[in-house]
Amino acid sequence: MSTVFQINQFNSTYWRNAKGTWRDTNAIGTWKDYWLEHSDMKFPLMCSVIGCANRAVYGAHVTQSEDVFDKDAMYIAPLCRYCNNPMSMLYFNLAVGTRLVSVK
Ligand SMILES: [Zn+2]
Repeated sequence: MSTVFQINQFNSTYWRNAKGTWRDTNAIGTWKDYWLEHSDMKFPLMCSVIGCANRAVYGAHVTQSEDVFDKDAMYIAPLCRYCNNPMSMLYFNLAVGTRLVSVK
């Protein structure tokens, strides 16, 4: 059963892209569809990463865990094409209002 939570005030929690997820599927559709199904929100226009003004296009796998392969610690967040890539940046903060849906 997925859980949902929202970032309600600025915090300096560091998030990163989860790894080993490109092959993962869910029963609903894309991971954007999965996020839409559970978040009870419209898909945001902008990427959830603080400081990024690109258009959100993906339901991206993100984690706070040092173990970027830990499936129990993965959440889906709306990110842009650039930010949905561990090669773009190692860590990032998520903007106030970001809603995260757990993968498990
Ligand atoms: Zn971005």
